[in-house]
Amino acid sequence: MMKPIYDALVIQIEITNACHIGCSNCTRLVGHHKKPYFMDLDFVETAIDSLEGFKGAIGIMGGEPTLHPQFEEICKLLQRKKVTHKAGLWTSGYKWETYKRLIKETFKWGVFYNDHSDPRQRHQPILIAIEEVIDDKELMWELIYNCWVHEFWSPSINPKGAFFCEATAALDLTFNGPGGYPVEPGWWNKTFEEFRDQVERYCPMCGAALPFDCPASKGELDLVSPKNYERLLKVGSPKALAGRVEIFNKKFGREEIMRLKRDWKPWDYLGGGIRKKDLKPDEIFILRVEPYQFMPIVIRHPFQSVAAIYENREKIINFVKNKQKLTNFVKNKVKGIFRLT
Ligand code: SF4
Repeated sequence: MMKPIYDALVIQIEITNACHIGCSNCTRLVGHHKKPYFMDLDFVETAIDSLEGFKGAIGIMGGEPTLHPQFEEICKLLQRKKVTHKAGLWTSGYKWETYKRLIKETFKWGVFYNDHSDPRQRHQPILIAIEEVIDDKELMWELIYNCWVHEFWSPSINPKGAFFCEATAALDLTFNGPGGYPVEPGWWNKTFEEFRDQVERYCPMCGAALPFDCPASKGELDLVSPKNYERLLKVGSPKALAGRVEIFNKKFGREEIMRLKRDWKPWDYLGGGIRKKDLKPDEIFILRVEPYQFMPIVIRHPFQSVAAIYENREKIINFVKNKQKLTNFVKNKVKGIFRLT
């Protein structure tokens, strides 16, 4: 059983899948689309409106969201809708100097900065279909139902609709799937049974739940299982057609999976938590309580971190005061630790 969409910490609005970097095994499958999309402003507004009543945050994500030609208008829209207190941005810092002020005014819930430039960063290969590498279906569903992406990441909206999971959204978009749920008010008010259709359609063709030693993002090639390779060719993926994929044809049994699970920390995508280019002091205003995300920053910039915590003390106090949210957060973390180690 997976947690309901309404319990998510944040729902992402993926305003573009354009990216200036091009990591291998990108979770948005960047490189496999003939051209990137840029979400219409009207649709961004519909997406924001659809989240009215949702208790979690609203994420603006890509690709690299600042590449959207109307990024400024999107920020103004969030301000006009008066949702800046619950708006977050995921960026690799592109155009940081241009947008710094606007970003700080708009994304008061937090800015998640990850420059992706460290060659040790890793991405869990989404394109290794778990159904192709695990024949034991009971084991496959056990892994899927405990998927770390679903537990720790977010549901998402892209131009094809609303999805319970970010990876599902990317798979649907890339493989010309039937699309997500209509983006209408309350679409997110769904229990597991109500989004089971998306789980059954997409999770078996996804590799996120497969315990696997994630390759570095700077590798040239995406790891792809044979059927997903065929699907990529069918949709004319530029990356697959250019031969920038490696076919992954291995099978895993329960014993090997249990052994791999012991040291598997796919959420530690920073490659040991140390980055070549860390946050600049004035860029530290990450508030999401994810120790694996901000501890390396605190260690590197202890004084600036204390200052940032002091500056944002009200939000931190509110978070702690909200007992239900805190209880859910701790419960999910503890569950995650027992499942994944
Ligand atoms: S298996 Fe893939 S599609 Fe399913 S929840 Fe995990 S990341 Fe999302």
